Amino acid sequence: STQVQLAARPTGWPTADTFRTVQVTYGDLEPGQVRVVNEFVSVDPYMRGRMNDVKSYVPPFALDETMTGAAVGRVVESRSDDVEVGALVQHQYGWRDVVQEDARGFQVLPEIPGAPSSLYLGILGMTGLTAYVGLTAIADLREGDTVFVSGAAGAVGTAVGQIARLLGASRVIGSAGSPEKVELLTGRYGYDAAFNYKDASVREQLRDVTPDGVDLFFDNVGGDHLEAALDRMNTGGRVALCGAISQYNDTERSPGPDNLANATTRSLTLRGFTLGGYLDHAPRFRELMTGWFSDGRIAYDETVVDGIENAPQAFLDMMRGGNIGKMVVRTGA
Ligand code: NDP
Repeated sequence: STQVQLAARPTGWPTADTFRTVQVTYGDLEPGQVRVVNEFVSVDPYMRGRMNDVKSYVPPFALDETMTGAAVGRVVESRSDDVEVGALVQHQYGWRDVVQEDARGFQVLPEIPGAPSSLYLGILGMTGLTAYVGLTAIADLREGDTVFVSGAAGAVGTAVGQIARLLGASRVIGSAGSPEKVELLTGRYGYDAAFNYKDASVREQLRDVTPDGVDLFFDNVGGDHLEAALDRMNTGGRVALCGAISQYNDTERSPGPDNLANATTRSLTLRGFTLGGYLDHAPRFRELMTGWFSDGRIAYDETVVDGIENAPQAFLDMMRGGNIGKMVVRTGA
């Protein structure tokens, strides 16, 4: 099995020295174990936080161990009564092409007719659920809301715009980091307006496309995006603090928004969350999303990088904006 380990804790942006590729040979299966050949492995922004040796909502990655995280694969050998050979499974064993562990570490998934299993890492999985939970449980989406989404062309962002619309938002606005992405937001994802945050200040660009203000802000980016949105929030507005990717590789503390006082004068709710605390919303999400998906009402994009040894590059490309929709690694094992 080819596996990618964390070799060193990065300061600032990870480099080639941060990761190491190793070969691991598994022995015969022990009772209760399965062997799984991965089809797709996920690379996610939260993994940057886990590379640091600090206490957070998930413990840090261990040095010299294989990077863990979500993956989907197929069972090729089984000594478990619960998981059959051929089953499609999801697990958290991460950046490797083959994994052999106790069957209890794997969750059997239903097949998606005509679609790749990678969707379980994106729109039908964790990132789709993050969008749903952030909009509903965290930011209390209401019929007629004007919604602003930062990081709108990414995995979570593409789901947010569509779910917001399906649940009654009247106007959806997004920001992203390239002309191609901006085009996609209005052309394919149904955004009413979108802008490239690299073109000019977010503050000015957001003001220009929100004449009636913003009722709900779904923030994936933080920093200047949060500050700009606080300027435009309507009274009683709600902000889901989902992520702050603009700051994950910072080596110095970033300044706070200069207009946080608006939270008081406009009776805003700013609420952060990590998905792990809201998994009880998964059944309802699955029900809704399965329906929308089979009705053809959900668009999605994926950026696929081939080869598990290229997982570090895929991760870095994603952190730099090289992805449209969900970034996944196809193992090719
Ligand atoms: P994405 O697919 O959105 O990929 C990351 C994107 O971030 C890039 O494509 C890039 O797009 C954008 N980006 C990178 N640097 C900057 C910057 N300086 N300013 C603005 N945008 C930037 O990743 P995910 O959808 O997986 O995650 C999106 C966010 O959601 C992250 O903040 C993540 O931490 C958070 N998250 C939170 C969860 C929770 O439980 N709270 C769960 C899952 C994700 P561009 O080209 O537009 O710059």
